[in-house]
Amino acid sequence: MNVLEKDIRFLKGVGENREKLFKKLGIKKAEDLLWHIPRKYLDYSKLKKIRELCDGEVESFIAKVAGKPVEIETKSIKIIKIPVEDGTGVVTTVWFNQDYIKNVLKEGEIFCFSGKIERKGFYIEVKNPEFEKYDQHLLHTGRIVPVYNSTEGLSQKVIRNIINNLLNQIDGALEDIIPAYIKQKYNLKDINFAIKNIHFPENKLSLELARKRLVFEEFYLLQLALLLLKENIEKNEGLKIENAQNSLEEFEKFLPFELTEAQKRVLAEIAQDLESTKQMNRLIQGDVGCGKTVVALASAYATIKAGYQVALMAPTEVLALQHYNECKKYFGNKFNVRLLIGSTPKKEKEIILKELEHGLCKMVIGTHALIQDEVKFKNLGLAITDEQHRFGVIQRVELTKKGSSPNILVMTATPIPRTLSLVLYGDLDISIIDQLPPGRKKILTYAVDESFRQRVYNFIKKQLDEGRQVYWICPLIEESETLNAKSAVEFAKSLKEGFFKDYNIGCLHGKLSAKERDKILNDFKDGYIHILVSTTVVEVGINVPNATVMVIENAERFGLAQLHQLRGRVGRGEHQSYCILFNQSDSEIAKKRMIAITRSQNGFEIAEMDLKLRGPGDLFGTKQHGVMNFKVADIINDMDILKQARIAAEETIRLNLVDNKLLEKINKQFYNNIENIGL
Ligand code: ADP
Ligand code: MG
Repeated sequence: MNVLEKDIRFLKGVGENREKLFKKLGIKKAEDLLWHIPRKYLDYSKLKKIRELCDGEVESFIAKVAGKPVEIETKSIKIIKIPVEDGTGVVTTVWFNQDYIKNVLKEGEIFCFSGKIERKGFYIEVKNPEFEKYDQHLLHTGRIVPVYNSTEGLSQKVIRNIINNLLNQIDGALEDIIPAYIKQKYNLKDINFAIKNIHFPENKLSLELARKRLVFEEFYLLQLALLLLKENIEKNEGLKIENAQNSLEEFEKFLPFELTEAQKRVLAEIAQDLESTKQMNRLIQGDVGCGKTVVALASAYATIKAGYQVALMAPTEVLALQHYNECKKYFGNKFNVRLLIGSTPKKEKEIILKELEHGLCKMVIGTHALIQDEVKFKNLGLAITDEQHRFGVIQRVELTKKGSSPNILVMTATPIPRTLSLVLYGDLDISIIDQLPPGRKKILTYAVDESFRQRVYNFIKKQLDEGRQVYWICPLIEESETLNAKSAVEFAKSLKEGFFKDYNIGCLHGKLSAKERDKILNDFKDGYIHILVSTTVVEVGINVPNATVMVIENAERFGLAQLHQLRGRVGRGEHQSYCILFNQSDSEIAKKRMIAITRSQNGFEIAEMDLKLRGPGDLFGTKQHGVMNFKVADIINDMDILKQARIAAEETIRLNLVDNKLLEKINKQFYNNIENIGL
């Protein structure tokens, strides 16, 4: 069997206990271990003579154990001192509570040490240094030493040894999947060099080259995956939607408002796609509140009129429900539209599944529930995903697989810089709605600390008494989850028992059943609930125009783009709206972020700042949505490599260099492994 496929437990140095610890780190197979890239490095590469060691510096030196251990024992601590020498001087190594060291540092044996030097005249001391037996191949000292993400019970030494064993076992036999031509043209090192040197770099330059190669590979594979996806789609004979333009115009008549110029432009682009036989594959990008939903529903209308079915997938049940209601509002009973979410009762679900299969249900709106195997369509003509950044490429592809080359429309409110768009949505045509519906007022945004709390409460009361409503966001559901952050449940209770006892307070979070959430949201929409305390389940898409205040507790815990989305929940009606951010952190970066969000209302600008201030992870929501899990690459710092990888991927396809092993790798990485990527 290929050693890379081996279960981690069969590797040298890994027993049952360590297996468990490694699995905690997500390392299951030997291959995962190779890709457990060091978090950082310690530079112990400069070996010095003892005479040259400097006070206060972290230094490395080779020395012989030059005497017996001296033990000093106090009530709380046991100290062992062992002298070592190299002919130019003596160093006293000092060990705290490490009794075993007596049996390791044996007199006369030679070791390499790395640690912080304390020097007083001729007396030199080093406390708890890193050390290992001196040999030709040092791992833990006297070199650039890798430091890994770990977990309790798994020491750096153990991880290094196990990885080193594995590398020795592989012995340069990793197969290189990047075509030789590309490797040469872009000056890339061989994969064996790269993997070896990313773990145990020969020197700084080889670390740099190793890293470049691996970053390139990550970007390159992603770009290839997206380009192939695009090519595949373009090959498909798409559905031709007859009279799309007319249907779209007809739909406009159902609306209580005039479409904005930007919406009209995007609809014209969509009409062209729909009427051609090419499969539509389009992303609608537009800031919160720009009105993407009606554009999607218009497209749905045209598709249904032409005799096909439509699926709309949203990331949360709350949002699916809201789309469902909006859909009902415009379509009335013209078509059979259904809601299919995780909590749909079994009986009802069975009916919906039948209706879909026989083409009786024309449009289904739902969550991930839509991509389950049991869901079958008679003739799916349009697959829409809302808030695409919450889904992975795979999920998008899964939905489209429910039909035979249906048209594809994806929507996202996360404005991202152009270069990133290309990377993340490289396979899509992009339409941008860059205009908000008329009459929207600027949302006045304030970042405040605790000293403002009472003033804020008074202000909110005034708004409530004028008939407005309030969103109040907490980062957590329950108190126990983590320290020092407000939880929605407790917080709602404290408001109800305290300052806001005369108002109706609802609490919305992900642990409620869909029915409970449904009721709370409806009560909020109907104005019965005055203050809606919520976790970020409202982040995406909720629309209640009478709500004018968005309060966010622990705002420092959210990404800028996320704050911007949350803020976008207000300012949707005729009244002046406000966003109040309680920043509970004193960190400089938190302050900068608060300033950024209070100064700008422009999603693209905020996205750029988010990138600068935090890195892209938070741009797309939190980690738990599995977004942008590059192992080595850093999308900001490695932007140049990214551009190269894009060009290389295009070249690879043009020159027909995609062979089976490359294809297999892409399939494995992007289509089998949903966890791996979320774009
Ligand atoms: P998003 O793009 O963030 O998904 P929505 O589609 O939820 O935004 O639209 C936000 C609100 O704006 C909804 O109440 C919608 O009915 C309304 N809306 C959309 N387009 C227009 C328009 N052209 N004129 C006025 N209101 C509009
Ligand atoms: Mg939306």
